[in-house]
Amino acid sequence: MTRESWSTQAAQLCIEGRAFIDGKLSDAHDSATFACTSPIDGRMLAQVARCGEEEVNQAVRAARRCFESGVWRDLEPRARKSVLLRWAELVVQQADEIALLETLDTGKPIADTTNVDIPSAAYCISWFAEAIDKVGGEVAPTSTHLLGLVTREPVGVVAAVVPWNFPALIAIWKCAPALACGNSVVLKPSEKSPLSAIRLAQLAIEAGLPPGALNVVPGFGDTGQALATHMDVDCIAFTGSTAVGRKIARYAAESNLKRAWLELGGKSPQIVLPDCPDLDRAARTVAHAVFYNTGQMCTAGSRLLVHRDIKGEFVERVLAAAQGYAPGNPLSPDTRMGSLIDASQVDRVLSYIQQGRDEATLLTGGLRALNGSGGQYIEPTVFDCPRADIALVNEEIFGPVLSVVTFDSLDEAVALANDTVYGLAASVWSADLSTAHETARRLRAGTVWVNCYEETDNMNFPFGGFKESGNGRDNSLHALEKYTELKSTIVKLR
Ligand code: NAD
Repeated sequence: MTRESWSTQAAQLCIEGRAFIDGKLSDAHDSATFACTSPIDGRMLAQVARCGEEEVNQAVRAARRCFESGVWRDLEPRARKSVLLRWAELVVQQADEIALLETLDTGKPIADTTNVDIPSAAYCISWFAEAIDKVGGEVAPTSTHLLGLVTREPVGVVAAVVPWNFPALIAIWKCAPALACGNSVVLKPSEKSPLSAIRLAQLAIEAGLPPGALNVVPGFGDTGQALATHMDVDCIAFTGSTAVGRKIARYAAESNLKRAWLELGGKSPQIVLPDCPDLDRAARTVAHAVFYNTGQMCTAGSRLLVHRDIKGEFVERVLAAAQGYAPGNPLSPDTRMGSLIDASQVDRVLSYIQQGRDEATLLTGGLRALNGSGGQYIEPTVFDCPRADIALVNEEIFGPVLSVVTFDSLDEAVALANDTVYGLAASVWSADLSTAHETARRLRAGTVWVNCYEETDNMNFPFGGFKESGNGRDNSLHALEKYTELKSTIVKLR
């Protein structure tokens, strides 16, 4: 496919903007809508239903009805598995269309949505489908006159509130395990990227999911708040900023103490020790870790901590690697870095860059790019930071900005790495496996990569953070813990 052929396909797309409640597409009761535009060039994509409290209530009622009826919850696990596998298959069949929708909506390169986002979403559905008829409960150790069963039951109605940086993938990280366990779900995509969620829900029903099992209510923060405060929602699975995560925890506490699982922000360090095994590969990886997805990643390796002895030669290599991320049109298959999500995100990133110009040394980038395109682009940007107590080093920027900090000893590197409210991810580069292991153990982060970054074996690792990066884990069998309640059944034998 060429840029021209993707553009032709984009012009022919029929984009759905209605909510999806109880198995049907529907407008908001007051016909309220919001405009969904593309950050690629500002083109109008769709008017999307703006769901309020009324639609949230409808969706939660439908989800509750479905759950209590048992049509989904009480299906044999292998029957739920078949429906979910069919859903994954439909996502694969429609992958190009969904990838294109995601690219238009977010400005992600089409190479990423076709190779990463949508295939990974389909894989996640099939992974949890395959898992669900293989996990069982426990028989507790008891005295001989008792039989003790420890089982897991679905929690009930799950609200999933998700961000815009991986709209389809993160929605599926919540929906797939929640549905596999037998729950009903009400999904609220971000107002900045609502389109793929609607399409995915349509395919789920086509695959055989009963009406009410998966509902989509597009809207803004007030829609998320209506879900988080709802007295008939049993669990909220949230991914987004730490600021909103804090509110979600409060809403849960002040309503029905629903379970609140929070996947939040990060400011992840990449530590490069003087015995780093391959400076070229490390530099390319460091650049990829912060410029992939235009730096709009919770795990973005946005702090490079580099030993003074190798700083000069290493940073030179990182700057060379950064040139490979010059922003391009996301519909071109060879574009590696696309646009940011919208104008407000560009303003936010540029204000950090502006402040950084006073507090640090700009090594490359720092400007808007593709001016005249009507889109939202920023150059890959690197700062050399003389101190660690500045905003560039401490705050989550969520843009293509790398902050370099120099250290002189391993202890100093570990202290710098852990000196953050976040604890999502980190990496360490060393040729000495013992040093690497010992350092990994000292880092307070949910994921630590050694001599790599963002390497995953798909769904096999729990994903989430320490400290203010949240609680709970997406992916792996551990995700099932979020969407189930543990029950002890104790039988007195004769
Ligand atoms: P955000 O917190 O602004 O919004 C996330 C979602 O919450 C959106 O759907 C939004 O509409 C909704 N929301 C906003 N205000 C709300 C309120 N008061 N009540 C309920 N819902 C509300 O985050 P964002 O800007 O969409 O995404 C970027 C953030 O997400 C970054 O901080 C990033 O680190 C984080 N993130 C974390 C992970 C992870 O797994 N840890 C993954 C991706 C993104």
